Amino acid sequence: MSDIEQDNDSLESEYEALLSFMYLSPVGLVRTNPSGKIDMLNPMATQLMMPLVKAIGLENLFETLACVAPELRNLVTSFRESCGSICVNHRIHVTSAADGGVVLACTIVKVNDDVLITVLTDISCQVATERRLRQTDSWLDAIYTVVNDFAVLGLTKQGEINSWSPSAERLTGYSESEAIGETLRHFCNLSALDAHVLGEHLAFAREEGWHSRDYDCQHKSGHHFFAQAMIAVLREEDDEFSGYTVVFRDITERKVSSENLADLLTKDHLTGAVNRAHFFNLAEKEFARATRYRQSISIIMLDADHFKLVNDSWGHPIGDDVLKSIVKIIQGILRPADTVARFGGEEFVIMLPNTNSLETSIIAERLRSSIEASGVDAGGEEVKITVSIGCASMTESRPTLKQLLVSADSALYQAKSKGRNCIVDIGDI
Ligand code: GH3
Ligand code: MG
Ligand code: MG
Repeated sequence: MSDIEQDNDSLESEYEALLSFMYLSPVGLVRTNPSGKIDMLNPMATQLMMPLVKAIGLENLFETLACVAPELRNLVTSFRESCGSICVNHRIHVTSAADGGVVLACTIVKVNDDVLITVLTDISCQVATERRLRQTDSWLDAIYTVVNDFAVLGLTKQGEINSWSPSAERLTGYSESEAIGETLRHFCNLSALDAHVLGEHLAFAREEGWHSRDYDCQHKSGHHFFAQAMIAVLREEDDEFSGYTVVFRDITERKVSSENLADLLTKDHLTGAVNRAHFFNLAEKEFARATRYRQSISIIMLDADHFKLVNDSWGHPIGDDVLKSIVKIIQGILRPADTVARFGGEEFVIMLPNTNSLETSIIAERLRSSIEASGVDAGGEEVKITVSIGCASMTESRPTLKQLLVSADSALYQAKSKGRNCIVDIGDI
């Protein structure tokens, strides 16, 4: 056997070994080209991505993951080195906490100009543990902080202040006689739109024994401060519910320095819309509220029409500008209590609390026509875009968030089939 043949033989057996290693590996391994086209993946990778595959199939890694991690493609294209780690353990929230909270850690390694290896690991259990640890941490933090940072007060069952301490006076500026009989709204800046917010926080505390929340507060002298409030339920010896104890801590400094971090965790980096994972956090609360107060709530799903053509004709950066402009227009039309989230590449979900289906279709038409009328500048030329919209509203029948999303999605699909640039409203479901 010649040296070359021997080399080929050992290369082939190494390759075989690599393949069987990939096949058996307990983590998901995917080999792609830089555009994400998959040429090899192991069974674990298929299993982890199965909930996302739907109609798109499993041909392109970034397209399959686009609905939960649209940022991956940008991470890869903005990586300039010839090889190295593009991202390490980047978290992808595949399903919301209500749907099992599946979270993947994604590491992408650039092997050379033609090959990327992506490693996917299921870290759902770890994330759930971290959440519990964070809650424990906020209690421990409170216990270890110097006593000066505390304000302790008591509330009646109805949420009226019935005990006040010198620490509470120092933190808020209000004396005992000014505070007794008031609610926390007296110095916590809960806007008029959120009239139910406080009642809801107390209800959460009643259900779970305690509830922790950050409030934007106003001192009697006018200045703002952020306080973390921990609301604990008080029970008499016979277990009868008798009111609440609230411990406030001034966290202004920490809040300001962590605000950028909070943005990174909750917003889509390109458009500034809420990201998918955070949308589910917000939506769960809004749905709980809508159910509790028997209010309507609506979902609008909006998808840019023929967006691939925009990218193909004008390039990806102009495509990005178009996405930013769509979100800006949407934000200009929505009210403060509404939320716009980027769900996938060019797909957005809008949540409208306290809005029935008639009001929703009026807002949807304003969104559609404003986007149609707008344009994005591309070196002197104007890029036009239209959107298709699906709407669904929840009223008396109280479907779940998931059902409403499915209905809005199928309405959107119908709008696409009807020729795009139009609205299909499933109405009340
Ligand atoms: P339809 O009217 O049926 O929705 O057609 P479409 O072309 O809009 O839909 P399709 O799903 O075929 O294509 C969506 C495109 O959006 C493909 C993808 O490359 C692009 N895309 C996804 N994320 C981004 C992004 O962050 N920036 C840019 N510029 N393009 C993106
Ligand atoms: Mg589209
Ligand atoms: Mg789409």
